[in-house]
Amino acid sequence: MLFFIINNFKDVVILRVEIIFLGAGGGRWETISQNKGTGGFRIHTEKTRLHIDPGPGALVRMNELKISPWSTNALFVSHDHPDHYTDAEIIIEAMTNGMIKKRGYVISNISVLEGFGIYENAISKYHQSKPERVYLLNPKDSVDILDVNLTATKTKHGDPFGIGVRVKTNKGDIGYTSDTEYMESLIEDFNGVRVLIANVVRKKNERIKGHLCSNDLIDLLNEMSNKPEIAVMNHMGLKMTNPIKECEYISKNTNVNVIPAKIGLKIELLEESCAVSNVLKN
Ligand SMILES: [Zn+2]
Repeated sequence: MLFFIINNFKDVVILRVEIIFLGAGGGRWETISQNKGTGGFRIHTEKTRLHIDPGPGALVRMNELKISPWSTNALFVSHDHPDHYTDAEIIIEAMTNGMIKKRGYVISNISVLEGFGIYENAISKYHQSKPERVYLLNPKDSVDILDVNLTATKTKHGDPFGIGVRVKTNKGDIGYTSDTEYMESLIEDFNGVRVLIANVVRKKNERIKGHLCSNDLIDLLNEMSNKPEIAVMNHMGLKMTNPIKECEYISKNTNVNVIPAKIGLKIELLEESCAVSNVLKN
């Protein structure tokens, strides 16, 4: 039976670098309603199948998009909020072939791995026992895994130890702000990435504590000396009712191509440019 399930997914060798989104929403209301999805996103390279922030629905979306969970060999959870971690243990179960093989890497922060104050460890000690290695990162810590390098970035959010990440690949860097307020360190942390994935909860200047709004992303992009080729608006809240229009507003004010995340959105990092498509329309 297991053999059948594994072979139902035709996972081809990927020589390019691609990002696939399993959701575009975030925050309590959007997570409950599941309009935009909260499965996080994946970075696939020749050797790496990295799942970042698998919130509710990650496994369901992977099934929908015909992405094999079994192929996952790295997991990154940015902080201890359920829209980022609920499916993490199941991803580990897939990664370790049902907890029978020591395999894969888990990268996260202290709250998720050990618990801190009212934040209990979202990934159980049992689930932390089967991956090949578990890395606890603080901002600026860096780790080499498979054919990528991950550097944790600083955030200012409810979980005081939340981290974003800069992923170095052989086709350039991919940045992920995770949930954070605007702060100056973001400029240097993500300057020069080819693709910036920014968690923008609200539109225009509707700023709320611990999160970015559209105007914050405009400021961040305009402060960068080396702007990304593409910025992806991710983790949008329920009140972000017209993501396309909002991205046009940000693009107009930054001269950066800004696009909204969407279930199935795929970005391929090619030599000269980034190709955007949707897995669901292929
Ligand atoms: Zn959060």
